[in-house]
Amino acid sequence: MYKAFLIKYAEIGLKGKNRHVFENILRDQVQYHLDKLGNFEVSREQGRIFVSCPDEYDYDETIEELQKVFGVAGICPVVVVDSTDWDTITEEALKYVDEFYQDKNFTFKVEAKRADKRYPITSPEMCRKLGESILYRFMDAGIKVDVHDPKVRIWVEVRNKSYIYSHIIPGPGGMPVGSGGKGMLLLSGGIDSPVAGYMIAKRGVAIEATYFHAPPYTSDRAKQKVVDLAKIISAYTGPIRLNIVNFTDIQLYIYEQCPHEQLTIIMRRYMMRIAEKLAKDSKCLGLITGESIGQVASQTMQSLVATNAVCTLPVYRPLIAFDKQDIVTISEKIKTYETSILPYEDCCTIFVAKHPVTHPVLSVIEQSETHLEERIEELVKEALDTVEVVQVG
Ligand code: ATP
Ligand code: MG
Repeated sequence: MYKAFLIKYAEIGLKGKNRHVFENILRDQVQYHLDKLGNFEVSREQGRIFVSCPDEYDYDETIEELQKVFGVAGICPVVVVDSTDWDTITEEALKYVDEFYQDKNFTFKVEAKRADKRYPITSPEMCRKLGESILYRFMDAGIKVDVHDPKVRIWVEVRNKSYIYSHIIPGPGGMPVGSGGKGMLLLSGGIDSPVAGYMIAKRGVAIEATYFHAPPYTSDRAKQKVVDLAKIISAYTGPIRLNIVNFTDIQLYIYEQCPHEQLTIIMRRYMMRIAEKLAKDSKCLGLITGESIGQVASQTMQSLVATNAVCTLPVYRPLIAFDKQDIVTISEKIKTYETSILPYEDCCTIFVAKHPVTHPVLSVIEQSETHLEERIEELVKEALDTVEVVQVG
């Protein structure tokens, strides 16, 4: 049983002077995730994130949790040798190969590193010596050296202690959440928006969310579904503050006052306006939606011009060039799909026109909105004043 993990990170390694800031955020994120499971100590040492596991723990569950931490490129279960003595390291490495590779019919190469150049054996010498020791001990069992394309690379790092590992389990990649500010996700009960939130969070952005519901046209079950989706993605993004906006009166008013084929676009514009207000109040630096060019009438490039025109914050649309099937594949991977396809009504579909405009003209839409002048401000204020906040994750 491994008592420690070495965490490899990818892009943080490209950072310059502020690299330690990113490393600290990643360390905190790893600690936050593992705290859900038990007693783990996470530290940052010499440019690495190191997890030690003093107590009994569930290996599979731990790996699964680490695979949800953005910024983690690889997870290496590692044997820690409390010594830098070469003979001790050799013994431990032989024991490691013996125990962790039942079937020894594979090719290998030793990769060794010393942190301190004063260590008496150079890295190439360490590779050669340990390679020979392993080969001689296990060659009858089938092990062979291949320095060009080995099946297994056995890493040995000599620092203030020594570390042996050979197994790198892929992490999700990306940047640690919290390293990139905060964004406001427009979260519906559909397939796309949870995936969009996941993708932006993967770039290090913390997520807040807004959901528009229209009771009694949309049910409590539809609302609960959105809370459930927020909960599922919070396993990756960390805690999410979910704003639930009652959109009924605004929708009814638009329905009364505006041409029906423009309903969806005008509704979307009000959603964006309200989400942006909430975003600014919470110091979010952008809006996030699950839109994808051409997926539906309200997502043609012309429609996106009309929707986008009301926003001053940048709108991030990570799925903009994705086919539906590609989005579905991600939603299955992140486990939102089963919840997203539950058949509860959505406020957009209830008030949808039979023939929505697919090529709206911004000036025409703006003209239609003048029919809302009498009451819309008051209704938007009412919607903002009655936001219900649910803390998820
Ligand atoms: P999704 O699968 O994410 O619901 P969709 O394909 O149904 O997307 P639309 O209904 O046009 O597409 O919505 C486009 C985007 O607008 C969504 O991805 C989401 O970001 C936002 N959105 C739509 N409806 C709502 C809602 N009721 N509450 C919050 N955001 C919404
Ligand atoms: Mg939808």
